[in-house]
Amino acid sequence: MDPTAYFKIGYGLYVVTSSRDGRDNGMICNAVMQVTADPPRMVVAINKANFTHSTLLATGVMNVCALAESAPFALFERFGFQSGRTRDKFAGIGFGRGENGLPVLKEHCCAVFELRIEDYRDLGTHGLFTCAVTAAKTLSDAPAMSYAYYHANVKPKPKASAPTAPGAPAKWVCKICGYVYDPAENDGVAFEDLPADWLCPWCKHPKSDFEKMQG
Ligand code: FE
Repeated sequence: MDPTAYFKIGYGLYVVTSSRDGRDNGMICNAVMQVTADPPRMVVAINKANFTHSTLLATGVMNVCALAESAPFALFERFGFQSGRTRDKFAGIGFGRGENGLPVLKEHCCAVFELRIEDYRDLGTHGLFTCAVTAAKTLSDAPAMSYAYYHANVKPKPKASAPTAPGAPAKWVCKICGYVYDPAENDGVAFEDLPADWLCPWCKHPKSDFEKMQG
């Protein structure tokens, strides 16, 4: 298995919004795809560790906001690197509502799809939602952001950090979001000794998306 083969699959980047008991939430997602046109259907895969996963199972509806290339890294920090369990991710930003009442981003969003969940499949780490599209709208002519564009132009370049002392366990950096795992800040636990199901605290990606930092 060559893990780099997956880099050849094209993805977009989206904010999946949901709402439960008057509480709005949103999360960054790349696993979104239209699969049929008549009737229109999309599939969305959501990591079970995300608060959104349980909300979707409970409510059966979501909105998918397609991000434009203008979306700044701050938007990814807001929706991707904190949890809706403890934060109101919509605090302080402008947003509207779709016909289904769920949030729709006003800025840096070029299209929105309102989805009604028709089927759910447990995929282990993730849940796969097959959905009917109940509304679709283009919001701007701006090009949609691809995952490749995010990696090349939006994600901050790795910052120079203090060199690791000779003999000390290495720091590892998340290739997705730039989070640095430093054993010195984690009771000296080496990255290699973290459990196999450990997830990046910012973006919830697995250990396999980390690489060892040199020096
Ligand atoms: Fe990460």
